[in-house]
Amino acid sequence: MLEKVEGFNMEKVIEEFEEVTKDAGRVQIETLRKILEDNSEAEYLQNLGLNGRTDPQSFKNCVPLVTHKELEPYINRMIDGDLSSILTSKPITTMSLSSGTTQGKPKFVPWNDELFETTVQIYKTSFAFRNKEFPITSGKALSFIYSSKQFKTKGGLAAGTATTNVFRNSRYTVAMQALKSQCCSPEEVIFGPDFHQSLYCHLLCGLIFCDEVQFVSSTFAHSIVHSFRTFEQVWEDLVADIRDGVLSERVTVPSLRNAMSKILKPDPNLANIIQTKIMGLSNWYGLIQELFPNAKYVYGIMTGSMEPYLKKLRHYAGDLPLLTSDYGSSEGWIATNVNPTLPPESALYTVLPQIGYFEFIPQNKGDSDFIDVEPEPVGLTQVKVGQEYEIVITTPAGLYRYRLGDVVKVMGFYNSSPQLKFVRRSSLLLTINIDKNTEKDLQLAVEEASKFLAEEKLEVVDYTSYVDVSKDPGHYVIVWEISGEASEEVLSECCNCLDKSFVDAGYTSSRKVNCIGALELRVVRHGTFQKILEHYIGLGSAVSQFKTPRCVGSNNAKVLQILNENVVNKYISSAFNN
Ligand code: AMP
Repeated sequence: MLEKVEGFNMEKVIEEFEEVTKDAGRVQIETLRKILEDNSEAEYLQNLGLNGRTDPQSFKNCVPLVTHKELEPYINRMIDGDLSSILTSKPITTMSLSSGTTQGKPKFVPWNDELFETTVQIYKTSFAFRNKEFPITSGKALSFIYSSKQFKTKGGLAAGTATTNVFRNSRYTVAMQALKSQCCSPEEVIFGPDFHQSLYCHLLCGLIFCDEVQFVSSTFAHSIVHSFRTFEQVWEDLVADIRDGVLSERVTVPSLRNAMSKILKPDPNLANIIQTKIMGLSNWYGLIQELFPNAKYVYGIMTGSMEPYLKKLRHYAGDLPLLTSDYGSSEGWIATNVNPTLPPESALYTVLPQIGYFEFIPQNKGDSDFIDVEPEPVGLTQVKVGQEYEIVITTPAGLYRYRLGDVVKVMGFYNSSPQLKFVRRSSLLLTINIDKNTEKDLQLAVEEASKFLAEEKLEVVDYTSYVDVSKDPGHYVIVWEISGEASEEVLSECCNCLDKSFVDAGYTSSRKVNCIGALELRVVRHGTFQKILEHYIGLGSAVSQFKTPRCVGSNNAKVLQILNENVVNKYISSAFNN
């Protein structure tokens, strides 16, 4: 028997999931009908001439595929305070600011209560499956979550990141309690105005409640790794705070000091235990497991652009399993992890057919002789195993046939709902002429080349890339921040290896005839990627939602400037010199 939690019946959640996934095709038709009926008064839909029709074919015939760019004029009117039925029948009063780390600047997308409902639905489903495999008793979660700055748009709409809109919902805490996922830090820490101070307090709360912590989490894995890297630097202050019951002076925000004063009491015994544990670690291996003896797992989005952090996360986690969470975006949720025992590298996300209407654009393999005509999108139950697709979503918050820009691969089906592997952002591409390298290709090249660093017990802390076409021929620039100092010799080898590791035929053939110049590896100062993170926080992003941009576009002047100002060494590949 699965355990019943007050207000949350896990058996029922699993039963419902079985039901909707068994009948995914019909559920999709119903979901589309409901979205279109609920929003029949929306100006956007009325102008497209649906005339009350809600079936998939009419929808496809009347409504065009769009990207954020096409919707921007509508969204801008809402931001400016036009409260008529623009994209939804019920006017939108809140906007989410998507991280925008992939595009260079944050973008507004509509948020409403229906999206909160789908969030709870997703959380409940993955929790029910997770708890079957890794049951947690009542306790707390050490969650590195942060609210972004919330502000009003010109027209008076509330705006913040999607996670902030979730945290701010009055039902969030209740939902998290039911899911035994209540954050061990007080709300003031989550909503603090300075994330360095909030992070310090999260770590302190984790230590104070170390025996109660059932799991350690954040929205994205990057934030967990970042937190424990910070822990390595501040642990002595944390231990001193616990010993004396006095909060470090580094926390200056009154609301944080006030909230922490209610839970921080002198506890020399706990301070000694923590200190002894830390002293017993070798190179911080197993830190999370050691500090939180009752933790069952580490939890957060660990796929896609988060994969490069897995090695470090495993190092900190020790024997604790890493569980990837769900798949979604500020625009809307898509799929959930109901196979929590799979390691993140082979994670599958099962689409919830009742939370939105989904279409899939087959991706060309790139080897066709035909002119690049974009294939027609197919429905949720028509996708083929092994094929890659770009996802198109229709949500209850006013996005219709919206190209999310993510490429996924169908790995199989759960009943009749597809199980997806996240592949990449579709827009992230290193390309100069006929070459095409995706963020995944870049990740593999970096993994390969960083093996030379591992021999010196060093690692790549973070990385990004861009194409430099300021001189002819253009070339790839890969930027690394490294955990220590590597020799010139090793870094030259890394550089050559990077160049050789892009195996795309367009790249190798162009390199051989020098249509693409020698790859350049730039090593940047320690803390450079922290500066990039802070730049995005300044734009309104939340730390827990942050994703390092893996390819920086030429329009992203600020990030390019940060990178250029912090270069300590440059290496040019000789891999293709004869
Ligand atoms: P945001 O712009 O902050 O709303 O981030 C949404 C984007 O994060 C998605 O479009 C994906 O590219 C990425 N993302 C979200 N969930 C996952 C996941 N489970 N695996 C990989 N990437 C994800």
